[in-house]
Amino acid sequence: MKRFILVASLLFIWSTIITAQQCENPKAWYNSYNEIYFDNELPKDTIVKYKILDKQMAVTQSIDGKHFIIDLDPKYNLAARTAHTVLLHEMCHIETWNEKEEHGYQWIGCMKRLEKMNAYDNIWIDAYSKKLKTIQ
Ligand SMILES: [Zn+2]
Repeated sequence: MKRFILVASLLFIWSTIITAQQCENPKAWYNSYNEIYFDNELPKDTIVKYKILDKQMAVTQSIDGKHFIIDLDPKYNLAARTAHTVLLHEMCHIETWNEKEEHGYQWIGCMKRLEKMNAYDNIWIDAYSKKLKTIQ
């Protein structure tokens, strides 16, 4: 019985840590990224949510070619940084929705534009340096 309580306690603590690191409001991040990197040209009413998917980290679906749903699989987007990077990937799909190839030249151009705007540095590097500044 003690062993069960110990294991249950560890699982609870582990799940709490994991939950704390997960992006809790991907729609808010979509809105921010839309403003910062897409000049608010992506649809504001895009639904962004977590959903268990088959084998994909995320999927973007179009409702009617103008309105979209982005589903992020929580098991592959455990860390906020991962979810934010995947979200930018999906937002480029919305920007280039009419491109024939799924990851064609327009989509690649969108991703490279985000890179030039330091979108990935802001996720993977600058967040750490901001944390450093608050510690010093
Ligand atoms: Zn993709």
